[in-house]
Amino acid sequence: MTTVSLPRVAGRSSCKHSSGQQSYNVLGRPTSPNRVQRKYKCLSDQMSSSSSTTSAVLLNTGVQMPLLGLGTYKLVASEDVYRAVDAALVAGYRAFDSAAVYRNEADLGQALKQLLPKHGLTREDVFITSKLGPEDQGERAMEGALRSLAQLDLGYIDLYLIHWPGTQGLVVADQRNPGNRAQSWVMLEELHAQGKLKAIGVSNYTPAHMRELIQSCKVPPAVLQVEFHPRLCQTELRSVCEEYGVCFQAYSSLGKGELVTDPVVMEVAKHCERTPAQVLLRWAVQQGVPVLPKSSNPDRIKDNARLFDFTLSDTDMDRLSALDCGHKYCRDSSEVA
Ligand code: NAP
Repeated sequence: MTTVSLPRVAGRSSCKHSSGQQSYNVLGRPTSPNRVQRKYKCLSDQMSSSSSTTSAVLLNTGVQMPLLGLGTYKLVASEDVYRAVDAALVAGYRAFDSAAVYRNEADLGQALKQLLPKHGLTREDVFITSKLGPEDQGERAMEGALRSLAQLDLGYIDLYLIHWPGTQGLVVADQRNPGNRAQSWVMLEELHAQGKLKAIGVSNYTPAHMRELIQSCKVPPAVLQVEFHPRLCQTELRSVCEEYGVCFQAYSSLGKGELVTDPVVMEVAKHCERTPAQVLLRWAVQQGVPVLPKSSNPDRIKDNARLFDFTLSDTDMDRLSALDCGHKYCRDSSEVA
């Protein structure tokens, strides 16, 4: 396991929801955060230059992942993907988040092949994430991951996630779900060993799914990607990730666009002379949490990238964190066996 110490994130929040809360050990027993066994590299070994969109977190693979990536869910027409990727590269994005179920891996790969030379960039300058679809969970996982690799056609995938803890076609309580995701993980470990998937991780896993994986894996997950915004602070999941050196990554930071009209978010934005979207994204990255805002609008893509030239005060961070009410805009995986 690589153990590299980098500076903590500048301006790291004193978010009340992440301090003074219970953390849990691998067996699910409560632990004191200052007695946590750091079996894997600590999540706090993160880096942010606070001045550019190239700020990154260090994964437990030893590779850096940008704090800012472009979400691509619902970006489907090839011309829309091309336009969004073009705008994102100009704005400084160097990470792109796709998935087999988004049906845009081929368009994303194609757009990057055309646009990277235009912007004086190479494959190595960008970080591509994709995900194994729930229909390929289990014995079809190898086939699914190879299909993602072929669709993107970029040589390798920087980060490949199991998209969902369950299997498509099985009810959530079906006891075949744990075996299927364990089988998927073994396949991803194999492709990781071959260098085709540079890092592997999971998405939408609960604390119980995470502990189960950490107990059985050979390669620990590099990333857990879950819904995270001021109305859903995910305190327990963040503790589990911190304990095992798994990078906690946010999706739906804007609450699918709905949080930009939250009165508290709007007030903080007015006070900081920033947009509500920038405030929501800054709230996450200031805690060292990577974000993936999605937009198909070039102006918003540019606007959403301006996160590293301002800091939220502790008071504003706490006001936003106080909105935590466990609200989910996306599907809830807590019932998946
Ligand atoms: P989101 O990023 O929270 O919000 C996207 C919505 O906000 C879009 O409707 C977008 O509209 C709007 N928007 C973007 N910038 C804005 C701005 N500056 N002002 C006002 N509205 C703005 O939602 P998300 O797409 O659910 O999540 C982001 C990404 O995370 C996804 O695209 C996907 O890559 C990933 N994700 C992963 C999972 C998973 O299961 N792993 C689940 C959900 C999402 P326009 O496009 O019209 O700008």
